[in-house]
Amino acid sequence: MPETDINLIQHYDLLSKLGVLQKLQNYERKVRDQQELLAEAAAIVNSRTVEELLEYTISRLNNKFIPEYLAFIMLDPHEAVKTKIYCYNNLKAIVPPVTIHSLEPFRTFFGKYPNPVSFSLLEYIMDNKEASDALLPLRPEIVVPIMGPGGLNGFIVFGVKLVGSGYDKDEISYINTLMRFASISLQNAVHYRTSVSDIKTNLYNHGFFLLRLEEELAKVRRYSSELSILMLDVDFFKKFNDTWGHLAGDEVLYHTARVVEKSIRKGDIAARFGGEEFSVLLPQSTLASAKAAGERIRSSIEQMVVSYNRKDLRITVSVGISHVIPGADIDSAHLLRQADTALYASKTQGRNRVTCCASGLLARALSKK
Ligand code: GH3
Ligand code: MG
Ligand code: MG
Repeated sequence: MPETDINLIQHYDLLSKLGVLQKLQNYERKVRDQQELLAEAAAIVNSRTVEELLEYTISRLNNKFIPEYLAFIMLDPHEAVKTKIYCYNNLKAIVPPVTIHSLEPFRTFFGKYPNPVSFSLLEYIMDNKEASDALLPLRPEIVVPIMGPGGLNGFIVFGVKLVGSGYDKDEISYINTLMRFASISLQNAVHYRTSVSDIKTNLYNHGFFLLRLEEELAKVRRYSSELSILMLDVDFFKKFNDTWGHLAGDEVLYHTARVVEKSIRKGDIAARFGGEEFSVLLPQSTLASAKAAGERIRSSIEQMVVSYNRKDLRITVSVGISHVIPGADIDSAHLLRQADTALYASKTQGRNRVTCCASGLLARALSKK
């Protein structure tokens, strides 16, 4: 037996009486808590999406306490100018019972007090009844800011606890530490999304599209999956701008992007390729399903009416498709050229149509409109 253990047994009564053993136990518990927190922090910082981060955070809270309402109110990571609310009732996701349009009233407050505060203190100091009353349906008790280098990214509202009275010092300290890591992760998500987005249309940008295309082509080579890409170009857009103005043109590009997004599957990547051109990457898609997606987009855009300055504006698009068969070793530049050639064919054959660039009878049959 090690000498320290023998000493401990010999002096057990004395150490116990002096409270040394109790203290030792407390320190051991603290070390365990810190180790647990470190593991939790690492998992939070490594979350890939906001949804994953929230799911994990909720699962951790579940072990400690359950707030009746818990709401994460923050800049929308998918659209950095709007706010988005993720709300939980007894830790189950629900439709938020509140709407918060802007973080502005809270920004000034948390700029001065960047720490968790009780709701009553926030209400008193912020002195903006409209903004604080908006939170009342959450039965708020503690409000925790989500701070980043650029200021407030959002805040978290903890409602009254389901069991027990108010939050104690340790619980608030735990919430605070966990949320600091959550803030870093949320900040990363917002930055990441803006760095790969096109500002005008909020679709992915050209660079991200090419990156994802390379990744998917590698899968085609390795795993024998297949893929397709669509290239879209707005018809006679120069004339459109000349007639209605560039701002009207921008508005139409934004709505076109929304139609493209709605017409594709989760996992497909829609990007603004440049100017009035869009590209869509369809991983694991057959030529037939790519043709169906192209046709869906073409006809939805043909039916789209954009109201701008009391005018109803319409456009059409031409689409080119290229497809890679399983196992093919094809480079991205070649694939893009093929889609461009198909798009050019759509243009010369009268526009507002879909053309596939692929050899064989199937492709020829599919490219007939
Ligand atoms: P086509 O059917 O052959 O594609 O004709 P087009 O007029 O669309 O083709 P062209 O390439 O001659 O012109 C593209 C036009 O798209 C010219 C440019 O002003 C417009 N455009 C490109 N980017 C934007 C943009 O971000 N906003 C607006 N409003 N217009 C843009
Ligand atoms: Mg063009
Ligand atoms: Mg065009």
